[in-house]
Amino acid sequence: MSDPQRFAVFGHPIAHSLSPRLHALFAAQCGIALEYVAIDAPPESFVEIARTFFAEGGRGANVTLPDKGAAFELADAHTQVAQRAGMANVLTRQADGSIEAHNTDGAGLIRDLSERHRVDLQERRVLLLGAGGAAQAVAWPLLDGNVRELIVANRTSGRARKLAGALAAPERVCISEWNALKRCGAFDLILNATSAGVLGVPMPLPHSLVSTNTVAYDLAYGNAAQPFLEWARSAGAARALDGLGMLIETAAGSFEHWHGVRPETDEALRVLRDKM
Ligand code: NDP
Repeated sequence: MSDPQRFAVFGHPIAHSLSPRLHALFAAQCGIALEYVAIDAPPESFVEIARTFFAEGGRGANVTLPDKGAAFELADAHTQVAQRAGMANVLTRQADGSIEAHNTDGAGLIRDLSERHRVDLQERRVLLLGAGGAAQAVAWPLLDGNVRELIVANRTSGRARKLAGALAAPERVCISEWNALKRCGAFDLILNATSAGVLGVPMPLPHSLVSTNTVAYDLAYGNAAQPFLEWARSAGAARALDGLGMLIETAAGSFEHWHGVRPETDEALRVLRDKM
């Protein structure tokens, strides 16, 4: 019998990563034998570590903070989704030994929102807070989901402007300066794609962004999501959701990319929620 295919997740720090547990769950569910390990890859050594992994027969890798940009640069070829995001969270060794970059973050968010939480994006007014890697990955799929209006606000407004420009849909996309958010009115959907919660830094937001119909969604999960979710609840939002489901759908997307089968994700979500 041949050895199981080898997979990994690269990031720094990486000990906290849920990816090995998720891929083991999916593999057991789908009857696929694989090895999946977490590999610490500080930015200065990421390229060498990743190249060694693939040269030694690694089949695929997930990539998380802070290596997603470097993963995109390292790849020989890029899927259209990765090209749009400019970042990669999935690297795959092709039959000829070349490395392909892909990104499943945006599709993971949309699947969690639309299929798990039944949030209809069509014709919605959406506020995207942040313009970093995650915001770049989710912005295009939001437009593909036919939102009516997408307002991007970032602490550093130049980055929001750059993202809005790249989206090239001026009739639907605009930016707001952070300190002008109080004049934007209420939104159907507010996505927090900033790392303020992860960093433990307060991020004051006006209650006027929220109506009783608003769905507030933090891409982060666990303790990092709590300040934003508490703000949304106190402002009267209809629902306040965290990004654990997105994480699981994103992992399922990479599993499907590698193995050609989409795992069932509700059980994985229950297992991880119970442990939080
Ligand atoms: P980046 O470092 O690429 O971007 C960070 C963003 O947060 C930037 O827009 C930055 O603004 C903004 N920011 C940082 N601190 C503050 C602050 N104090 N106030 C306001 N804005 C701030 O990170 P990512 O885009 O990769 O990740 C963002 C979040 O998304 C994280 O919480 C991460 O955990 C989550 N995430 C969740 C995923 C999931 O599967 N659930 C997948 C990917 C990400 P500026 O440009 O001004 O620095």
